[in-house]
Amino acid sequence: MSENNIAKNLSPEGDEARYLVELEHVEKYYGNLHVLKDINLKVSKGEVLVIVGPSGSGKSTMCRTINRLETIDSGEIRIDGTPLPQEGKGLAQLRAEVGMVFQSFNLFANKTILDNVTLAPIKVRHMNKDQAEKEAMDLLARVGVDSQAMKMPSQLSGGQQQRVAIARALAMHPKVMLFDEPTSALDPEMVNEVLDVMVELAQEGMTMLCVTHEMGFARKAADKIVFMADGQILERGNPDEFFEHPQTERAQEFLSKIL
Ligand code: ADP
Ligand code: MG
Repeated sequence: MSENNIAKNLSPEGDEARYLVELEHVEKYYGNLHVLKDINLKVSKGEVLVIVGPSGSGKSTMCRTINRLETIDSGEIRIDGTPLPQEGKGLAQLRAEVGMVFQSFNLFANKTILDNVTLAPIKVRHMNKDQAEKEAMDLLARVGVDSQAMKMPSQLSGGQQQRVAIARALAMHPKVMLFDEPTSALDPEMVNEVLDVMVELAQEGMTMLCVTHEMGFARKAADKIVFMADGQILERGNPDEFFEHPQTERAQEFLSKIL
């Protein structure tokens, strides 16, 4: 047990942090462009949050700040109660706790599927090769691509590659998974095979933040919907509330275009 956990167990509450992800008064600029405006967000353990909104509203930027692929200008982000470190060793540790799957298939092109999944556990988590491979095969089976383990990424379909990307992120045992439009670059017939894996993960209790335009998935899997426009969170609520009774004109307009 790490010192941290011992300290936690001895703390008077004996409690885990109440929220796995917290953003408080987060502000970010790209030059003069104010991309994140006073973003406040809390995600509980096991909660599935779906983020929707028009293109350019800051959804990807917000995701990228959560695992510190982007810095913020002010405010605070905490993962499981710990403020995001700006740099150094703490950052690698934090990245291990936050898995991310992007729109583009970003597997390592010159490594086998199996190596894609075992690389970080061996390097960052110092897992031995046999154990890492055993775990990787279990994860690949879970997302339905274990028969592809010895192939190269280019030999797989887009849907298969995205499922490998999910397995690769899970191999680090993340506390939370971020998905940034994981199906929007896929051929339509492959969208569901990726969404099905995400729904399963959600049902198993994974804490998830998902940016997606897949409203069927949002209705099925989301505990909460957040609507962003122009760098702000304009609405938040449960899926029924949001889809049936959007409060703002921006959300009404957005929904009328995509539903
Ligand atoms: P979304 O994911 O909602 O489409 P983004 O977070 O990608 O929105 O982008 C928000 C705004 O920030 C857009 O106006 C975009 O052009 C701008 N932007 C995104 N990344 C950068 C960057 N690296 N440098 C400058 N501007 C950026
Ligand atoms: Mg985006």
